[in-house]
Amino acid sequence: MKTILLATGNQKKAKEIKALLDNVFDVVTMKDFGIDIDIIEDGLTFEENALIKVRALKPFVKGKDIILMGDDSGLSVDFLDGAPGIYSARYAGEDVDDAANNQKLLEVMKEVPKEKRGASFITAIAIIFPDGHEIICRGEVQGTIAFDYCGKGGFGYDPLFIHRSTGKSFAEMTKEEKNRLSHRAAAVAKTKIFLLDE
Ligand code: IMP
Repeated sequence: MKTILLATGNQKKAKEIKALLDNVFDVVTMKDFGIDIDIIEDGLTFEENALIKVRALKPFVKGKDIILMGDDSGLSVDFLDGAPGIYSARYAGEDVDDAANNQKLLEVMKEVPKEKRGASFITAIAIIFPDGHEIICRGEVQGTIAFDYCGKGGFGYDPLFIHRSTGKSFAEMTKEEKNRLSHRAAAVAKTKIFLLDE
């Protein structure tokens, strides 16, 4: 079984990616691999940041038959011209938690009417194969921003994102349901075409 090393310190995100790929690949995280580095995400797009993350791991796998995968994701709110976007993790400031980001989003959107609350979740996944070649895939899912917290599952902005076709927030879904419908699932599905060809 081929090994995929994930460029993330976010264990919840890693869990989702593992579930999406686990039957076919041995998915390990930086932590499993003993890598403890801070990666500065200073790209201007999700794709650039995904590449920055994955390229930062190259020195750790030199000469090894290991595939590197990095994901950068975020929430793009129509009314906010795409914000928080690539700044989703730091929306309420540096070193804040999900609760602070969600609280700020609720506050900023407080007076915005239902029909103007459109949003999308976006994931870019960058992969570097053992021979050095790189690919990037993007997944997106449409929804709206809730007026209050809905559900207790998931992570990040999940309690505030109402998925368009089911009408449920990502935090109200089972892990399996989110993993069928999410932006990350859509991006991973695209990468599989390349991964299975490897
Ligand atoms: P990053 O990709 O780790 O930089 O995450 C960016 C931000 O988006 C963080 O605040 C995450 O919590 C949030 N985020 C990323 N993916 C999801 C998701 O699937 N659900 C909810 N929030 C997410």
